[in-house]
Amino acid sequence: MGMHKQSQLNFGSIAFVPLCKHILILKNRDLRFNSLTIHGGQKPEQATGAVMTPIFQTSTYAQESPGEHKGFEYSRSQNPTRKALEDSIACLEGVDFGLAFGSGLAAIDAVLKLLKPGDEVLSTNDLYGGTYRLFTKVYADFGIKFHFTGMTSAERLKEKISPDTKLIWVETPTNPMMSLIDIREMAALAQSVNALLVVDNTFASPYLQQPIALGADIVMHSATKYLAGHSDVVLGLLAIKDSAVAERLKFIQNSSGAICGPMDAFLTLRGIKTLAVRMQRHCENAKILSEFLIAHPKVADVYWPGLESHPNHAIARGQMKDFGGMISIRLKDDRAEAARDFLSKLQVFTLAESLGGVESLAGHPVSMTHAAIPEDERLKIGISGGLIRLSVGIEDVRDLQSDLEQALK
Ligand SMILES: *Cc1c(COP(=O)(O)O)cnc(C)c1O
Repeated sequence: MGMHKQSQLNFGSIAFVPLCKHILILKNRDLRFNSLTIHGGQKPEQATGAVMTPIFQTSTYAQESPGEHKGFEYSRSQNPTRKALEDSIACLEGVDFGLAFGSGLAAIDAVLKLLKPGDEVLSTNDLYGGTYRLFTKVYADFGIKFHFTGMTSAERLKEKISPDTKLIWVETPTNPMMSLIDIREMAALAQSVNALLVVDNTFASPYLQQPIALGADIVMHSATKYLAGHSDVVLGLLAIKDSAVAERLKFIQNSSGAICGPMDAFLTLRGIKTLAVRMQRHCENAKILSEFLIAHPKVADVYWPGLESHPNHAIARGQMKDFGGMISIRLKDDRAEAARDFLSKLQVFTLAESLGGVESLAGHPVSMTHAAIPEDERLKIGISGGLIRLSVGIEDVRDLQSDLEQALK
């Protein structure tokens, strides 16, 4: 864990050490993405040569003399396992600054703490339910104003923008309607009013989409999903372009203390090593299943950005490498009871919240992930009783298809 004194950013007693670029250079060549998932921010540990970053399960660090230390003082402020993960996400999103938190929502919470009363946030209207709840039920009480709107037309958005707009919050693909938002267009809009553009990149993962390269300022991940990838950890990550914003967020991370533990950082680092191969299979399986579902007589609509019939297919092609493992479907029988019946018959897909793990999951947004959104809001954006969300895992796709087939009978 080499420390680079000359590049430390200082605020109070904590130094934010940007990503050590030298770790990433191999024979004078930058590593490619699929290699960065394995090596980004990580190198064999110096004391023992351990190939895997150890789980530094310690709260504090011995000092040589008062104030003289190796860059680690107390584990809320810095921890070597967490630092490796923070550098890993920075590498994968192509920036110098990464931060890790105890959950995706803790990461979102940190970003909102950049704001002050009177500030305004513009956001997508089919937002992750927990993000919507944090915005409207917690931060609205602190005098921050939230506007929710469809973001497929930048023209319409201009009406909702004001000099007080400080943050534009984008999720793409959106949850659960799988709509695509043009990140370049949003970046131009954010720049026009000097607002920060934050992209929740959870559904795509950096393998499919790198928002910073498209103009975003901050990328947020629920690493609980594709990055960790094994449904065994809850963790949040931020990747930040600008050093001043990164410094402020590091200050908030240390001040509010919503960090992840070293064991969870380790599990996420291990998950990230197979991100590229997992994502490849997620995408392949989702393509086969969405083609099967769209031809099925009991299915009314299939929402998967890879389908040419998807209304935002062109945007997906313009900013994503492939189309991901998330599919939403609407049954022809659009009642919640019909969806519940279908879900109760599934045997390989597990009925569960969450997504992005190696195993396939199915969910009912109306009664699960989106229960916190008022009914009229929900229906406006298409979240009806018969809507089902599938997180397509990496099992043999023939087993997944026959499971859907028997449940649709
Ligand atoms: C799960 C999720 C979150 C919240 O992350 P947690 O790790 O559960 O706190 C935020 N955004 C999206 C798109 C998610 O799927």
